[in-house]
Amino acid sequence: MKLVHALLGALAALAPAALPAAAKPPKLIVALSVDQYAAALFDRYRPTYTGGLARLARGVTFTGYQSHAATETCPGHSTILTGRHPAATGIVANTWIDRRTGTSVYCVSVPGADKDARGGQNMRVDTLGDWLKRAQPGARSVAISGKDRAAITMGGHHADAVYWWGDGEGFVTSSYAGPATPAVTEPARAFSQALFARWRQTPPKLWPALPSACTALQQPVRFGELALSGNVPPDGAKEAASGPDFLTNRVSQAQLRASPLFDTIVADFAIDTIGRLRLGRGPATDMLAVSLSATDYVGHRYGGGGPEMCGQMAALDATVGRLLKRLDRLHVPYQVVLTADHGGTDAAERQAANGIDAKRLDTAAFMRELNGTLRRQLGLSIDPLIGDADQPVIVASLAGQRARIRDAALAWLRQRPEVEAAFSAEEVAAAVPPPGKPVTELTLPERFNESYDPERSGDIQVAFHPNTSFGVPRKPGDTVAGHGSPWDSDRRVPILFWRPGVRPDARTEPAETVDIAPTLAAIAGVPTDTTDGRCLPAVTDRCPAR
Ligand code: ZN
Repeated sequence: MKLVHALLGALAALAPAALPAAAKPPKLIVALSVDQYAAALFDRYRPTYTGGLARLARGVTFTGYQSHAATETCPGHSTILTGRHPAATGIVANTWIDRRTGTSVYCVSVPGADKDARGGQNMRVDTLGDWLKRAQPGARSVAISGKDRAAITMGGHHADAVYWWGDGEGFVTSSYAGPATPAVTEPARAFSQALFARWRQTPPKLWPALPSACTALQQPVRFGELALSGNVPPDGAKEAASGPDFLTNRVSQAQLRASPLFDTIVADFAIDTIGRLRLGRGPATDMLAVSLSATDYVGHRYGGGGPEMCGQMAALDATVGRLLKRLDRLHVPYQVVLTADHGGTDAAERQAANGIDAKRLDTAAFMRELNGTLRRQLGLSIDPLIGDADQPVIVASLAGQRARIRDAALAWLRQRPEVEAAFSAEEVAAAVPPPGKPVTELTLPERFNESYDPERSGDIQVAFHPNTSFGVPRKPGDTVAGHGSPWDSDRRVPILFWRPGVRPDARTEPAETVDIAPTLAAIAGVPTDTTDGRCLPAVTDRCPAR
């Protein structure tokens, strides 16, 4: 009898892998976003993965695109589960300028509420989780991230819980982002307090031992005016974690965010939430969105080409593996997709050392020079342009001279060696991509168009030279490398679909992150709202007839 039980147990364990493809709709959809996970980064480290990322790489895989120009976190996350480009989600940048007041607006701030309030009120469309809940009574939708803007834009408007990390607070939510009842907030508070109690007993280890394959990358580097030892753990990481004010010190919390431990605690909280809410065990298809932020913080702080990212990639592989093993233990059909909100570009100095034509641009000085030129040329008494160098806005008080300021700015920008192209808002607004145009063939104005909103976007859209690093790092923690350009280094991201029993299929046709939501909706059998993306037939045979 014991042997029979053992055999049945073994068979049950095998069962998910033995299911015919897409036999049953999934009980749980898990959407993973790895912040700043460039396709180039995935390709470089793919041979080294042995954990969760190796498993996902054996599914249906695409070289994907965040096809729009504004390759930032908030716009990118807003495409993944809505199926819409940022022009439609309304989330056209991490921050934009309110034209009436000239002040900066954070993408997940709440209009009319306290400045620290966070919610999805600026996002104009719903997400897959919202569609599931509308179509299937009893479906639950949860979003978790290290960043508020990632959790909120993936969670949508009707999620059951939306959590992110607050420095010194642990996992938090807001009544503007979703329900903030004790049933939602208490478990997050208890989880965080237990974590903090452990850390007070034993300082946390931000960085696991560096894999031997990464050690050769350790060497001193200089980015802008900042010199780094190039060692892992990085300068100051150990001291930050063992300091008495680790939880409340902003500098120390920045070290936590830019370390593999940050993804570990987000995954731990996601695993805790799966069990607590019995996700995948309800009457319908549940939705769990998890955005892992550490890769982005590591990329900004240390660049993507050093030992820090090498160590982060190994740790991410293990973290994703742990999450997948928890899903295995549910013994229900589940569907995973992994992608990124944008890619990234290594620090210009290291790119240049590798023979790439790359430069660093002091964007603040560049804007001062542009404004100074316009003041002299046009006889203005104030700086006419505010906002970011890649999409400046003409100040409201000079609206009457808008056309001559715009034209003079464009003329100056177009003769600068740092600038590849510059477009007026009018040019961008007119460059609507024809339906069905392949993402690989979009012109620059078309890419800008996909993340353009007449109220929220700049009056001028600038494409700087490819491989540019923006800003001059001066002290530890300053950004040394980043993203945000309309170039493929920032647009190309992996898109990996995996479910138990999936047959490996490395697709050569491009896919877009806006294809993810309609594909997952077809797999779950729920109707979508209007989408810019399309259901991918390589992933499911349930795509609706077109
Ligand atoms: Zn990001």
